[in-house]
Amino acid sequence: MDLPQQAQPINQGLHEECGVFGIYDPAGGCAQTTYYGLYALQHRGQEACGIAAINNREQSFYKDVGLVSEVFQRETLERLNGTMAVGHVRYATTGAGERENAQPLTIKYVKGTLAVVHNGNLVGIDRLRQEFEYKGAIFHTTSDSELIAYAIAQARLHCGSVEQAVCRATAELKGAFSLLVMSPQKLIACRDPWGFRPLCMGRKGEAIVFASESCAIQAVGGHVERELEPGEIVVVQDGEIRSIRDNCRGESHLCIFEYIYFARPDSVIAGQSVHQARVNAGRLLAREHPVEADLVVGVPDSGLDAARGYALESGIPLGMGFVKNRYVGRTFITPDQASREQAVRIKLSALASEVAGKRVVMVDDSIVRGTTCRQIINLLREAGATQVHMRVSAPPFIAPCYFGTDIPNREKLIACHHSLEEIQHLAGADSLGYLSLESLDKLAPDAKCGFCRGCFTGEYPIEVEEENS
Ligand code: SF4
Repeated sequence: MDLPQQAQPINQGLHEECGVFGIYDPAGGCAQTTYYGLYALQHRGQEACGIAAINNREQSFYKDVGLVSEVFQRETLERLNGTMAVGHVRYATTGAGERENAQPLTIKYVKGTLAVVHNGNLVGIDRLRQEFEYKGAIFHTTSDSELIAYAIAQARLHCGSVEQAVCRATAELKGAFSLLVMSPQKLIACRDPWGFRPLCMGRKGEAIVFASESCAIQAVGGHVERELEPGEIVVVQDGEIRSIRDNCRGESHLCIFEYIYFARPDSVIAGQSVHQARVNAGRLLAREHPVEADLVVGVPDSGLDAARGYALESGIPLGMGFVKNRYVGRTFITPDQASREQAVRIKLSALASEVAGKRVVMVDDSIVRGTTCRQIINLLREAGATQVHMRVSAPPFIAPCYFGTDIPNREKLIACHHSLEEIQHLAGADSLGYLSLESLDKLAPDAKCGFCRGCFTGEYPIEVEEENS
């Protein structure tokens, strides 16, 4: 994974978006279950996290910056105990990553309380924010999620129920939102009409569970029942489940990059195993870009499955080229070149005993700016690899993402300014091959949905207004 050039936490490259988890359980203990659910979703955001719970119709919450294991102590979770809870892990794609932008967003208003957790990005938020502010709204965060909470609270003043308010408010919103909304009596799950981000539901005994990914439902001992349809709203009240499909339009544009990078390999999204999709990408890559080599290695973590696919298809042995330091944590680095290179060396080291004297195929999931892949290729050369052939299990990024992934604007994307040969030269690779758009369409054959491929084509499922910075 390609690290950005600016100062960044050294465990972050292309960033995950956010993860949501929610549960109704008449037996209680929902905050604890949510804690474990968030643990399983930690890969989707490491900047901040939080949990809100309802106990006897009273809302309590706790949120802070940091990993789930850092933010929550046993005593905190015991204080949060209740029969409903929602939780969130955050990586900031809109608004800064400070404490006040941590979720759940909790509000008290004339109709009671709401807690909202959100995965995705709205589009046109400057206009929307201004519109709300001209109506008297005062926002406490810079997050688009607060706009959603405000829109729901406003709609509730004119609707007979919270779910009607969610339905009315979200019908007006554009962009990506997989939401969980918790009132004192109801847990409501909602997916945007385009279905950009995943959201599934399951059961654990009497409990009803929602999560961004199936791996979180399994992690708490539950089983997945189904995914929400794009536009669907599911309401849980006293153990009863109702579905509202007023905003379903029959569209489906799941982010294809969920399969390539974001989601955990043990998750299944829209019927497609994420692990298998990555293996498929590696196989397709081997067919498109064969090369004579002695060893295939993957860049941890999301390049590993694709490397396996490449090895299976090509017949070249699969090896472990890198050791990843899993304890890098959230240390920030200074933005000079030496520190950035140091950061890569702290995060990854090449295994000389595997790669020395060999022609190596190195598989990674993407190239953003091109700086990190050069350093990683260097690590292999220093460890004695005689050739390094880079293979990328996605097409080149040629456009930003407006829907919750921090793929930057065209100015910063290497593929917007350099030819394949130039990128190969800049990266220091002996050859370079990207997955084609045709193969991108084939990597998830079991998926029962359509896809967004906007960052690879510049064509988005909905109209977008401005370039991301
Ligand atoms: S633009 Fe790219 S990253 Fe963003 S939702 Fe679409 S496919 Fe995913």
